[in-house]
Amino acid sequence: MIEQLTVIGLGLIGSSVARAAKAYGLASRVVAYDISTEVQRRVNELGFVDLVTPSLSEAVRQADLTIICIPVGATAEVARELKVHLKPDSIVSDVGSVKSVVTDALIAELYPRVHVVPAHPVAGTEYSGPDAGFASLFQNRWCIVTPPEGTELDAIEVVKSFWTGCGANVETMTPKHHDLVLAITSHVPHLIAYNIVGTAADLEEVTQSEVIKFSAGGFRDFTRIAASDPTMWRDIFLHNKEAVLEMLGRFNEDLLALQRMIRWGDGQGLFELFTRTRAIRRSIIAQGQETAAPDFGRVQSEKGR
Ligand code: NAP
Repeated sequence: MIEQLTVIGLGLIGSSVARAAKAYGLASRVVAYDISTEVQRRVNELGFVDLVTPSLSEAVRQADLTIICIPVGATAEVARELKVHLKPDSIVSDVGSVKSVVTDALIAELYPRVHVVPAHPVAGTEYSGPDAGFASLFQNRWCIVTPPEGTELDAIEVVKSFWTGCGANVETMTPKHHDLVLAITSHVPHLIAYNIVGTAADLEEVTQSEVIKFSAGGFRDFTRIAASDPTMWRDIFLHNKEAVLEMLGRFNEDLLALQRMIRWGDGQGLFELFTRTRAIRRSIIAQGQETAAPDFGRVQSEKGR
């Protein structure tokens, strides 16, 4: 058990981390710091941590494990502020959706004073803020740990055990590989959703009200993804530029191939592709990462409230 866990940033992920730590007995004491006084007030009111403090130094001074749960673009600056206050030899981790840039920034600012073990729980909803979090968010989800080369094994074990304690399955990979995998499984799909919803909103011959009224098809799933936090997603695209652009290049080529199949009436080609993609959906369900029920995100979203 960790003596003191400090969570920096009490939004959806940070408040879920803090709630899980308390609910599953992973830390004796959970301390919270958020830059927003409104969030501090609300976390106090919700009462799921032992202490909320407006002082970053007070928050981390006694922490054995500090988990940074703020937008990726703010991580380097917070690490710089934290540096002098951290307990030597303690562990600092994060939950950022991009790992190469964040890992480099954390190492540059904090190593060797503390152990740096970045992580990314692949779990979330389209909601933000401390009210949106819940302790079971990470149950049966993956958490990817990306320790830099040379990190002490004991420190890696503490972070891995923490996430296992939250109910997550843990996998280790390099930050660069993480960014490539997430570019295709998460970042590009979000970009496509933002794009298709933006295109629909801009259409002149189809009115906005028609888009909303007839959105029972695939469009509704896209709107859920496109409702994700603008700050978080802006930062993801700006900080995982290389991998996202590489995957977008491949995506564009495949889209052109599809366009050609439609133009030339290649029904066989379309059918074969759609059969392969259906198999992928079925294997995600078989591995327990999704249910077969077509809930358009509503069940998850209700939980996220
Ligand atoms: P969120 O709900 O918007 O929460 C972020 C919190 O951090 C907010 O309370 C924010 O305050 C606070 N904050 C911002 N800058 C700060 C700073 N400099 N110091 C202290 N607190 C600060 O966001 P989230 O969804 O939890 O995402 C947090 C991180 O988790 C991101 O790095 C994201 O990439 C990662 N992640 C998100 C998901 C997901 O599905 N949402 C999944 C996995 C990982 P303000 O509201 O005042 O800005």
